[in-house]
Amino acid sequence: MRSDEIDEAKKKLPLPVLMHCLGVGEHAKKSARCPFHEDKHNSFSVWQRPDAGWFWKCHSGCGAGDEINFLLLGDVRNIFNRIDADPIPSADLAQALAEMEDRPWPELSRGKPITTVKLALMLKRFRIFPGTKRDGNTTFKGYDRNSFDDAFDRYAPPGDS
Ligand SMILES: [Zn+2]
Repeated sequence: MRSDEIDEAKKKLPLPVLMHCLGVGEHAKKSARCPFHEDKHNSFSVWQRPDAGWFWKCHSGCGAGDEINFLLLGDVRNIFNRIDADPIPSADLAQALAEMEDRPWPELSRGKPITTVKLALMLKRFRIFPGTKRDGNTTFKGYDRNSFDDAFDRYAPPGDS
């Protein structure tokens, strides 16, 4: 998927529609409770910029972005539910995303599959960071399951769980 194709896909699935599909449609407002953290103060905002599409932001610091970032968190959650590993290696997570053919991930990085670097950049928006993990004598980059807990807590896409 080229970047203009991603733009096209975003137009077809604007953020409020996407959020509705993911079961968090009631948060798609200018002022709403954040779906990513325990929010008592309507920290979350969804708005549209003329000619620039939809954006979301949590003013408490959960992150900000567009449809792609929002979708990423839901897909990562499904992968976490499917793969029984803790920590989950960055490479496995990126590969599982790259195998989702109905998503932008297989062609996200200039027509190439999402990389672990790109994945880390995108998850940074949710304050989720990979660390160096040890397995016997080898080390690898990976994500602890509990580093996603806050972000996953209130985010409940329907379907596979
Ligand atoms: Zn938040």
